[in-house]
Amino acid sequence: MKSTKVIHWILVCLLFSFSTISVVLGAEKTTHSWGYEGDNNPSQWGRLSAEYETCAMGLFQSPIHLTPSNLIRQDGKIETHYQPTPLVINNNGHTIQINYEPGSYAMINGKKYELKQFHFHTPSEHSLNGKKSDMELHLVHQNEKGNIAVIGVFIEAGKANSTVTTIWNHLSETEGIQEVKEQIINASDFIANNASYFHYQGSLTTPPCSENVIWNVMREPLEASRQQIDQFMKLYPMNARPIQEHNNRLVELIINQSS
Ligand SMILES: [Zn+2]
Repeated sequence: MKSTKVIHWILVCLLFSFSTISVVLGAEKTTHSWGYEGDNNPSQWGRLSAEYETCAMGLFQSPIHLTPSNLIRQDGKIETHYQPTPLVINNNGHTIQINYEPGSYAMINGKKYELKQFHFHTPSEHSLNGKKSDMELHLVHQNEKGNIAVIGVFIEAGKANSTVTTIWNHLSETEGIQEVKEQIINASDFIANNASYFHYQGSLTTPPCSENVIWNVMREPLEASRQQIDQFMKLYPMNARPIQEHNNRLVELIINQSS
């Protein structure tokens, strides 16, 4: 009798746990869904969930306009130490994201940040001299304290980019993660060491819009062909957050010799 009661109690607990988990997962899908158009467009992100409040309330939000009148500083630099990695593509419903194996990092103004993933936006999220580019690449890094550093690279229509070709060859309209282990790529193909860049304190450009992000946007763009840009836009015609308030933030343009 006693053991029957215990079993009954365990079953009740298990059922309760499962229903709690499914409510949480359900909530994730319904109330946390966000997008770029319609009811869940960027102006609504802050209202979709308590966790996304910073999207509406934050004072250090990204992206912003970048202008050449920003303070110029000479003593910063970015050095990337990116290793080749097997191609892992995540079509996550908001962008095409390439996950990176541990061991690749960037030294940004002398501080080490590990490369986690990179992904794409169209059009660009930041603007330079009032102009947006066709696309923007974001290389997302994190340090041991959990702080995030993103290297942004504008992409302009021009010559085809061979690394983009490799990735796009495996693009799928279906959401989810796709591992193409035999295909090796290297994000170092996207970045010139010691190039000039804009440096400022900002946020994630997607919910939860956390403001622990050091932004480094390269001044010189990459090129990709019109066809490559169009191919991405077939999946994601517009996935750029609008420009946010500048709020008198310090934006440094770090000029280096090689660009
Ligand atoms: Zn991004």
